[in-house]
Amino acid sequence: MITINAPCQRVDRNTAIALDQADRLSDFARRFDLPAGLLYLDGNSLGALPRATGDRVRDVVATEWGQGLIRSWNQHDWIGAPLRIGTKIAGLIGADPGEVIVTDSTSANLFKLIVAAMRSQTGRRVILSEKGNFPTDLYMIQGAADLLGAEVRTVDRADIAAALSDEVGLLLLTHVHYKTAECFDMANLTRLAQAKGALVLWDLSHSAGAVELDLNGAHADLAVGCGYKYLNGGPGAPGYLFVARRHLAAMRSPLSGWMGHAAPFQFSDEYAPAEGIERFLCGTPPLLSLLALEVGVDLLREADMAALAAKSRAMGDYFIAAIEQECAGFGLQLASPRDAAQRGSHVSFSHPSAYAIMQALIGRGVIGDFRAPDMLRFGLTPLYLGFEQLWDAVAILRDILTSESWRAEADNGWARVT
Ligand SMILES: *Cc1c(COP(=O)(O)O)cnc(C)c1O
Repeated sequence: MITINAPCQRVDRNTAIALDQADRLSDFARRFDLPAGLLYLDGNSLGALPRATGDRVRDVVATEWGQGLIRSWNQHDWIGAPLRIGTKIAGLIGADPGEVIVTDSTSANLFKLIVAAMRSQTGRRVILSEKGNFPTDLYMIQGAADLLGAEVRTVDRADIAAALSDEVGLLLLTHVHYKTAECFDMANLTRLAQAKGALVLWDLSHSAGAVELDLNGAHADLAVGCGYKYLNGGPGAPGYLFVARRHLAAMRSPLSGWMGHAAPFQFSDEYAPAEGIERFLCGTPPLLSLLALEVGVDLLREADMAALAAKSRAMGDYFIAAIEQECAGFGLQLASPRDAAQRGSHVSFSHPSAYAIMQALIGRGVIGDFRAPDMLRFGLTPLYLGFEQLWDAVAILRDILTSESWRAEADNGWARVT
């Protein structure tokens, strides 16, 4: 077990080396194709490329598409891929086979489940969420509410439990906050909401693949998540959605495309939803992306989720300790929970010149990201990062702060993607 006993103890390169030596997951780094020398602390935004993905995609293109052509829908089971990969993801998040399917983007899946959930709730017209939730979650709630004639209510994190009332049909929360990495107690909030008659929709985008999840253990209702972060599915990989089996019959997708039909190849004029979770498919899936995602998911399934989550917590503790020790006095403020049990797998620090500092870091080969208005965010991916790399990243950050080299970046303006 990798632990740092007291997060405030002195850390150095040797501490990191010892932690790396005790790390049972360290072999997984070799399964990824990362540029030599790069310190990639942004796998929570775009996961790294598994070595096996290139060959798999080339084979899908050359053999399954190029040679198999239309026959591959059956011969290579393209038609079964959304459910097959969904079932694999189910094993990572504490769901059962038949409760998870890979389809569409996280945003589209949010829309489908918000509308399905609200229509299954009679007499409740409020959709409740957290102020400062991930933008697409709030925007999709707003769009769905317009369509449904529902009311959107957002409250601060501390006021969520009190805001649950008999008007609330759906509570939508992101399990690990995208900026701060603050983590909700899924089981507890689910229980509180259900006691008031509300359904809960969890966004797992910053959780799945890095923190332990037990959807059915928490008696979760609904969830969505992203394929290109900790699942390493590649840029724009499809997302996935979860519907607890007990709710499936009552949930109808508002995007009633033919792939979600009970019998798409009967070509009937009337829509009838598939009996299973396939009812949440819409159109033809993007097979190249879908099968690339499967490689990332398969790799993650080889690792023990409890060990991954323990390493993620230990990396966060180490990184916080190293920054606070090495970069003290430069105005960095920890913006993530200090307690690893309350934290997801990234760590953020605020600083008035965060954008310029991050640009300087990227220039020196330390890739994190910037989240407006003032946050430096570092993704700590337990599958392919080691502790010594964290030490190296902190040493470079210290150098940038000490030399004030970031000041040369200050006037450059923000890129379109930060
Ligand atoms: C990354 C992320 C998404 C992504 O949504 P897309 O539709 O894939 O752009 C959604 N929600 C959260 C909380 C995220 O972190």
